[in-house]
Amino acid sequence: MESEVDTYGNPDLLIQSFTLSKYDFMDFMGGKELFIGVEKRNDTLFEMRTMLFSNFPTDNQLTGVFTYPVVKVAENEYRFYSKLSLLKPDMKSYQVGWVTYFYPYNYPFDKEAADQTYAVANEFAAAMGLEKPKPVEYYLFNDRTEYFRYLGADVSCYDFIGCGRVYPHGFAFADCNKVFFTKGGESLAHEIMHFIIKEKTGRKRAPMFEEGVCSYYGGHTLQPKETIMLELKKWLMENPQIDLGVDLVMAYKDQDGRFVTDSTMAASQERFAYGDYANNYAYAIQMAVCEMAERKGGKALVIKMLNEIKENEEEYNVIKNYLGIARKDMNRAIREFVIENY
Ligand SMILES: [Zn+2]
Repeated sequence: MESEVDTYGNPDLLIQSFTLSKYDFMDFMGGKELFIGVEKRNDTLFEMRTMLFSNFPTDNQLTGVFTYPVVKVAENEYRFYSKLSLLKPDMKSYQVGWVTYFYPYNYPFDKEAADQTYAVANEFAAAMGLEKPKPVEYYLFNDRTEYFRYLGADVSCYDFIGCGRVYPHGFAFADCNKVFFTKGGESLAHEIMHFIIKEKTGRKRAPMFEEGVCSYYGGHTLQPKETIMLELKKWLMENPQIDLGVDLVMAYKDQDGRFVTDSTMAASQERFAYGDYANNYAYAIQMAVCEMAERKGGKALVIKMLNEIKENEEEYNVIKNYLGIARKDMNRAIREFVIENY
């Protein structure tokens, strides 16, 4: 009898990293995973189920129930696969250069946007001196629950935070050059650019400036750059107490939840990245720095700075060296740039 695995046709597709679903999720969501059980589907295919709790055991918030296919490959030999391995043959695909997009049949794929995104990424790779980037698989889904299901999780609680709004979200699995994104993700080169930078520099963690570069050239949250920068301008004007010369990424919060640089105004010693529910101002600040560099020396200067900034703390020195702005003038310089240009 034909096994369930055989019906999926291409055994190559099953050779995928188990870590694609499990460990990236654990890293990403944190928490504790508990075993539920194993179900036998047929002679070769089993399904293992677990559930993941955040803040276990204090809150017991269930963040996901996961299903992992377990395939019997020989007598007493079993292998884990990701759910994606089994579902991928049912997706449509579109390849452009070294990027292949995959999406469910009912997904409204925007081919023009995908071509444009590839052009941006390919041009950036060339500017980085990377002639033949590693192939990228770019997965698109209608919403986050669908995206979770393709990783073996049954539901994404994020789809139920607001009424009827799909929250755009993307995640890059850097170890295997795969991107997952909700609707519209084919218009963003952001995550692909992270792969290019990682491949070229061998860097494991991206400094915040890299987020600015990927957001400036490759897009961020599906909003046009002008909208993001206008929001940043408004936020900076409403928050004159924030000093970007002290920290470009994070600050304390006061009793009213406002960001404060001065620790004597802080409600606690905890620090938070600049942002609120709708806007990531820490990224937008870096987009402004990126644009300042782009205007001064084009993409070549941006890449030079990108290669030198390995840790966030180094950024002030690099800005001083290449943009001629001392740390004590940084707060004024960024505010003026954003106000004059947006
Ligand atoms: Zn990013």
